[in-house]
Amino acid sequence: MTAYDDFTAHIAKYHDLLCILNTLKWDMRTMMPAAGASSRGRQLASLTTLAKSIFVSDETARLLDAAENEVASADSDSYRARALRQTRDAYEIQKRIPAELVARMAALGAESEAVWAKARAENDFPRFKPYLKGMLALNIELAEAIGYDDHPFDALILQFEPGMTAARLHQIFAELKAGISPLLARIVAVDEPLAIDLWEAEYDLAAQKKLCRELTELIGFDYDRGRLDSAPHPFEISFTRDDVRITTRYDANYLPMSLFAALHEAGHGLYEQNIAPELTRTALTADFLGQYAVGGASFGAHEFSSRLWENQIGRSPAFWGRHFGRLRAAFPQQLAAADAELFYRAVNRVRPSLIRVEADEVTYNLHIMLRTEIEIALLEGAIAVDDLPEVWNAKMQEYLGLTPPDDRRGVLQDVHWSFGGFGSFPTYTIGNIMAAQVLAAAREQMPDLAAQLAAGDYQPLLTWLTENIYRHGRAYRADELLKRVSGESLNTAPLLAYLENKYIDLYALN
Ligand code: ZN
Repeated sequence: MTAYDDFTAHIAKYHDLLCILNTLKWDMRTMMPAAGASSRGRQLASLTTLAKSIFVSDETARLLDAAENEVASADSDSYRARALRQTRDAYEIQKRIPAELVARMAALGAESEAVWAKARAENDFPRFKPYLKGMLALNIELAEAIGYDDHPFDALILQFEPGMTAARLHQIFAELKAGISPLLARIVAVDEPLAIDLWEAEYDLAAQKKLCRELTELIGFDYDRGRLDSAPHPFEISFTRDDVRITTRYDANYLPMSLFAALHEAGHGLYEQNIAPELTRTALTADFLGQYAVGGASFGAHEFSSRLWENQIGRSPAFWGRHFGRLRAAFPQQLAAADAELFYRAVNRVRPSLIRVEADEVTYNLHIMLRTEIEIALLEGAIAVDDLPEVWNAKMQEYLGLTPPDDRRGVLQDVHWSFGGFGSFPTYTIGNIMAAQVLAAAREQMPDLAAQLAAGDYQPLLTWLTENIYRHGRAYRADELLKRVSGESLNTAPLLAYLENKYIDLYALN
């Protein structure tokens, strides 16, 4: 055994624990009876503490030192060197975060999430306020523990999107706003309801489920190594590339709910299923900072894959031109008066709305900017928790021209702040930007791609994505992947061009 082999064996065991944690989380969100919540919470806490104690142990330090000495002369670009660097980075940061701070965050976070759920249901922001103040204070402590050069937000976003900063986001948001706001204004000026409302009919849930399975299989999700189940909040989670679970949710009237959630989560699943087998149980298929077995380069990079398959492919005219027949075969009465064109329009209707998770492709990123700007200002002390409803509503008016009628549909709508997840919102927008950038690069490098997609042949694109991105797991940072694929780091231009081309055509704005 070499020192690197010893290190790998130690990490593999830690990785197994992270996969077991994922198994418990999958069960909790899909199968577990409600009464199981508190004992499951304790199981998760015990196992998480055990996993962390293994990761920050002296043994990890000893094995890491020895493996680093051995690999020092090896190619710095190799998977081995990258696995060691990432483990070292996560180890140093984990060591700086006091265990008692993690425990306080977990304890207050659990209580805060429960209070938030009640406060949202009863439209009672004052009730949630002291908990949000508590979680904000703990996030500031966490940022100080992790450390940063310019802004506490930089330390928090490091947990989700290494390399991203508040300053860079500021610039990205300015570019997006300059492109999206005028486009949205033009759309709003001409928007009118479609001739037929497809969502008044009822769509049998078993038939919806069958379609979700068919469509996800068509884009390449491998059911020999995966499952599709239902969950109130759809998600994807994996226990290595050989067991990847996706979920969706069903609405008897609103058919797009299940179809696009399934395509979205299958997009996450395709990333995990196509990671190189030799990376299984290694540092390159786990986020050691977040203690989470996940194979993508970052949260934003994972979201790139889900949004590419859900939006760029799944909401395209080519996709429904090819597959609308399947839908109509499943729902001949409900869709009797519809055709591919009408369905395409119905699933791409742009309307400013109050709720982020219901937003369309054009307005979605505005919801993210609003949240991120508020987080940054809270961390700076530029705004106070007491003022949040007013600040929220003013920004909604500025970006979307709407004022929430109550806090339930305003500042209380998302769970993220209640458990302390500051810094995670921008990863959704980063995913959207990356998806456009990567697909633009694929179109350039694959002259036959448009014809393949029109024919419903997704294998060539999946192979290209696997070769260029998926197979590397977490070996490269998101920015490195983008540079390898497109020659550029994160760039908003392809997303803005995609939105303009698509919606100028769809709304006949010329
Ligand atoms: Zn996602």
